Amino acid sequence: MVENTVEKTSNLELNWARIEKKWRKKWTENRIFESDIEPHKKKYFLTVAYPYPNSPQHVGHGRTYTLADVHARYKRMQNYNVLFPMGFHYTGTPIVSMSQRIKSNDIELIETFQQIYKIPSKIISSFKEPKKIARFFHEEIKQGMNEMGYSIDWRREFTTIDKGYSKFISWQFRNLRMKGLIVQGSHPVGWCPRDQNPVSQHDTVGDIEPELIEYVLVKFKFEDQYIIPTATLRPETIFGVTNLWINPDIKYVIALVNNEKWITTRDAAKKLEFLNFSVSIISEINGSELIGKSVLDQFRKESVPIFPASFVDPNNGTGIVMSVPAHSPYDYQALDDLSKNPDTLRKYDLMVDIVPKKIIHTDLFPSNDTSPAESIVTRYSIRDQNDPKLEEATNKLYSEEFHNGVLLPDIDLVGNQSVLKARETIRDKIIKQEIGTTMYELKNAVKCRCGASCVVKLLTNQWFINYGNANWKKLAYELIDNMEILPEEIRQEFTNVIDWLKERACARKIGLGTKLPWDNEWIIESLADSVIYMAYYPLSKYINNNIDPRKSENKILADDLNDSFFDYVLLGKNDAEAVAKDSKISLRLLEKIRNEFLYFYPVDSRHSGRDLVPNHLAFFIFNHAAIFGKDKWPKQIVVNGSVLTQGKKMSKSLGNIIPLRRAIGEYGADSIRLAILASAEILQDSDFSFDQVKAIRSKLFEIYRTISSHKNIFTTIQNSLDHNELEDAWISSRIQRLILETTTAIEKFRIREALHSILYLMDNDLQWYQKRKLAKNKPVHNNSLKDFFEVRIKLLSPFAPFFCEEIWGIMGNHSFISLSQWPEVNNSKISLKSEDNERLIQDTILDIQKITKVTKIIPKKIMIYTASEVKSKLYKKLLDKIHIQSVTNFGVIMKEFVNDNDVKDLVKRNPDLVKKMIDDILSESLEVRERRMNIDSFNELIPLQDSISLLISETGNDQLKVGIYSEDNNDKYDPKQKSEFARPYKPAIYIE
Ligand SMILES: [Zn+2]
Repeated sequence: MVENTVEKTSNLELNWARIEKKWRKKWTENRIFESDIEPHKKKYFLTVAYPYPNSPQHVGHGRTYTLADVHARYKRMQNYNVLFPMGFHYTGTPIVSMSQRIKSNDIELIETFQQIYKIPSKIISSFKEPKKIARFFHEEIKQGMNEMGYSIDWRREFTTIDKGYSKFISWQFRNLRMKGLIVQGSHPVGWCPRDQNPVSQHDTVGDIEPELIEYVLVKFKFEDQYIIPTATLRPETIFGVTNLWINPDIKYVIALVNNEKWITTRDAAKKLEFLNFSVSIISEINGSELIGKSVLDQFRKESVPIFPASFVDPNNGTGIVMSVPAHSPYDYQALDDLSKNPDTLRKYDLMVDIVPKKIIHTDLFPSNDTSPAESIVTRYSIRDQNDPKLEEATNKLYSEEFHNGVLLPDIDLVGNQSVLKARETIRDKIIKQEIGTTMYELKNAVKCRCGASCVVKLLTNQWFINYGNANWKKLAYELIDNMEILPEEIRQEFTNVIDWLKERACARKIGLGTKLPWDNEWIIESLADSVIYMAYYPLSKYINNNIDPRKSENKILADDLNDSFFDYVLLGKNDAEAVAKDSKISLRLLEKIRNEFLYFYPVDSRHSGRDLVPNHLAFFIFNHAAIFGKDKWPKQIVVNGSVLTQGKKMSKSLGNIIPLRRAIGEYGADSIRLAILASAEILQDSDFSFDQVKAIRSKLFEIYRTISSHKNIFTTIQNSLDHNELEDAWISSRIQRLILETTTAIEKFRIREALHSILYLMDNDLQWYQKRKLAKNKPVHNNSLKDFFEVRIKLLSPFAPFFCEEIWGIMGNHSFISLSQWPEVNNSKISLKSEDNERLIQDTILDIQKITKVTKIIPKKIMIYTASEVKSKLYKKLLDKIHIQSVTNFGVIMKEFVNDNDVKDLVKRNPDLVKKMIDDILSESLEVRERRMNIDSFNELIPLQDSISLLISETGNDQLKVGIYSEDNNDKYDPKQKSEFARPYKPAIYIE
């Protein structure tokens, strides 16, 4: 039971710290977030990427966790048995390298800890030991999560260096290896030359995942003794090569590469060395010295000239490229530029009479088109090779040819083949004939956290997970096709990643973590041991990692875990009795654990930041597809953007880090939660500011004050007979709409929209309702208001849980709002007519205000005329034309209506009215049009009559005379014949 005491407040502020402390204590004491099997309740298992405890939490870390918590709380209120657990990721090098920086007395790091996070010096010096760092920040992050109000079941907490977890990871790896998905061999990896270690997202500045591309190096022969290698991603275009491009302004080297004399950039020579080519540099040569000479294309046995081009990037490939002017817009444009540059032509004594050679057809251009590159350059109106649009044109053409291109029929070997197939054939042939080879390069510039620029290294004897395995990819696609991805627009990013993922190094020589079970020199790296750990949560509360004697019958020793245990519990393999005997675990307990896994798995929702799409989330998909049966595949992924401050990412160097716990201490958790969530839709980066936090805190206080001032409606019984007025029906209808719209928005994670409704739109409704009641001199204290407040606080509670628990108590409840029922829509209370009633009143008052403002009249009389019956008929017909038949053309509509007996007199007499009414309808939202379609008859006189009291109070003139007439009424007071201007939903107004 919850005790109902309200936190004392000053007149201006709630005591947030006390409120939060009180509810944290009550939640913990009553264990309301601990979930176990409840056979008759639907379960909902949601997880979020566990944190890496190598530094404290800042506000930026809060977004993903807060979203997951909102999700957990929302589902709990929908009567699901929600499991929301948390672990801590210790694996890998970041914690170790952090401790090395402390050991080497890194001033920047130490100052950050001291000044921003206020960590005592004594503790910082203990950080020389990696586990001390992990332990300290683990507790710090956990504390922050509690202070944020996350509804986590902490009994299941673990770290990735716990003994039980290591046993689980060993099982995972033996399993992958048995399926042939782990291979040893030579494969390229992103590499830090200084640390001599592979790098992945966790190790790089800005958390960038290194992306590898594979070039084919085509070897052109030069003066019989040299090789000029060009790097290309499109080896099939060798058939269209007309020349080579060399940058005349840079220095190249002649190097002995695997016993051939190669001409490349110095950079390329270095890159080749990391790829295990034997390389020694002999001499240098200027690019300009090669211009105008010819090379032999060994594939076609043809000679092609070398021309100069400034667009050739020395950092890319070998710094020499082959030119395919019919299919590469850059090549086409560079040739065009060159032919128009007499100085250069004269300087190198060049003759440029190249005819582009078309080899690929797509439907982008007609089949008689001779150069797709030329055509697209024309289409994009490109000036010269420095035109930025050239990049766009190139992407367009490459993508079209990649997906839809076919080689022309007369091309040797690959005629009529798709580009994709031809590319493979030609690549293989070039390599087999040894007139070419392959070269890997990083697609993006990546820096290691140590500051060194990363390269691609060909590692030998390295262990890899083979994400390139075709059957495995097929399963991964199947999994993702059956999975909900929110927001849906990011699905393509996932399929792209599944597409390009290949072998990935899965073990390192240094760092924390689990040893590779069959090769103890290696430690499983952090993006490999964090992909199926969600399956460990249902088990972890039973596993005792201490070596102490067994504490209770409900715990098992990590030492006793073996593969047959995991096979049984996670995959249902083996005979339970045999497993029990083998692992020294009682049969009863073993079955209990198995049942718990079966009950909670699969994962219903996985939350993560957008930066984890290309690695963690993709591996999560792959590994589930490999290890678990389809009924255990995860069902949903929710991806969110990051948090910025003043438009910038939080980083030490910018000095804009806001520690999460400090922000909570100053402003309260609920305001921080709302500010993080309300400022952007889910995939966008949200911009965090304390101004917004303060604005939200004032809004919450205002809600508190309003509800407090109506406190007695929750404790006394209201007489519902007093409340059958139009505005009562309307507010009831609005409440249902708000429940419906907010629920839909939350389901799709349109959180900003949901919060906008709860925090702001509901205020507008409340104010209108109060205004209407006040004008009629009737009490607002009634059941409608009670409903309104209850619904509002429930809708808000997943977002601002502390505040809402407190208000729930003020409302006289003795239970937790966290465990209350999510409001359900009562369709019988939705009244379309009510919505038009109040809308008409609002519009009419606004019109009157506009008139009095312009004419500066202080009104003594206001006459309002509603449209005639025939106009209403016409309106309905027009609505049907526009909304149902999608006809909006005035001429077309008139032609039909002049023959329509119902309205022909009116439309002939007044065609302008038809035009205006069409505009009226078009200016309404689809929702309003739909609503008006569904209302059979709408008598505007009723709401307008009902609003007289409000008209009087709005004008501030007690003596105001108000007349409301239909245009059809012959007794109306209408001295200026205004009534004929009345249109449906747009009454005419006369003021004197
Ligand atoms: Zn490094």
